[in-house]
Amino acid sequence: MARARIIDGKAAAAALLAGMTAEVAALARKPGLAVVLVGDDAASQVYVRNKARQTLACGMRSVEIRLPADTGQAELLAHIAALNADDTVDGILVQLPLPSGIDPHAVLAAIDPAKDVDGFHVVNAGRLATGQPGLVPCTPLGCLYLLRQTLGSLAGLRAVVLGRSSIVGKPMAHLLLGDDCTVTIAHSRSRDLPGLTREADILVAAVGRPEMVGADWIKPGATIIDVGINRVSRADGGTRLVGDVAFDAAMAVAGAITPVPGGVGPMTIAMLLSNTLTAYRARRG
Ligand code: NDP
Repeated sequence: MARARIIDGKAAAAALLAGMTAEVAALARKPGLAVVLVGDDAASQVYVRNKARQTLACGMRSVEIRLPADTGQAELLAHIAALNADDTVDGILVQLPLPSGIDPHAVLAAIDPAKDVDGFHVVNAGRLATGQPGLVPCTPLGCLYLLRQTLGSLAGLRAVVLGRSSIVGKPMAHLLLGDDCTVTIAHSRSRDLPGLTREADILVAAVGRPEMVGADWIKPGATIIDVGINRVSRADGGTRLVGDVAFDAAMAVAGAITPVPGGVGPMTIAMLLSNTLTAYRARRG
């Protein structure tokens, strides 16, 4: 039986990071990335640590601002204002989720759009939706990179995006539209999901439902990008990570597929650093 090609996001991210490291070494000033973490959410602590490690490994400057869980919104906004005004900081990322009591929309709106390396500011979301250059959310940007690397031109292909969040699904759909795909966005209220996905030359799954996409949801030869990261129990009592796609079953039908872990995940941090470099260049004119 034919087996799909595995799209190696880890290798693609490593190659990108190596290229950026060389580029940063030649710059007169190190680009700076500031990460703001409020509270002690365990998963967020791990993400922030990884981001800082990769930022430094790439030769950039890492600024970490850790604030206690009871930090008020006004105090957080004051930190963001200071980072906006700091000329040595090119990118600002506020780790989500924020503790209850802080309005994430108000916080994201306070970040200078020119330093919004997560691409979540409404100005950057609007630029993406209207086809103007801006900073694009890292995860969908990483997915687009892998798709271009795998398929070359995406023009005319049928793409289905499962999930409509503002951080993955919607920006992913805009990026695919920008590359001339015919795009369908599906969500929890969509009817006949398998019927929709079986028409997809490109299927991006970003729903957060372990192994929801089975072999019978996939068009033979399709390219599958699995964004989902789900922790599930193992028979021995431990846990393991799985995506939104039943990987082994999909391998028999798809043309190419990203694994979980080792697919989209590593690309997200690579794109964060790429956005920091983009912001640095744009700010220097
Ligand atoms: P959200 O929970 O914000 O959005 C999930 C989307 O999936 C919603 O649009 C929801 O529909 C849809 N959905 C949920 N259940 C179903 C269903 N049964 N059928 C159809 N659609 C469904 O999640 P995110 O977009 O933030 O993340 C999605 C996944 O990607 C998660 O597993 C997350 O961990 C992972 N992720 C991975 C990243 C990486 O770096 N690899 C980065 C970011 C996220 P509706 O809108 O109708 O509720």
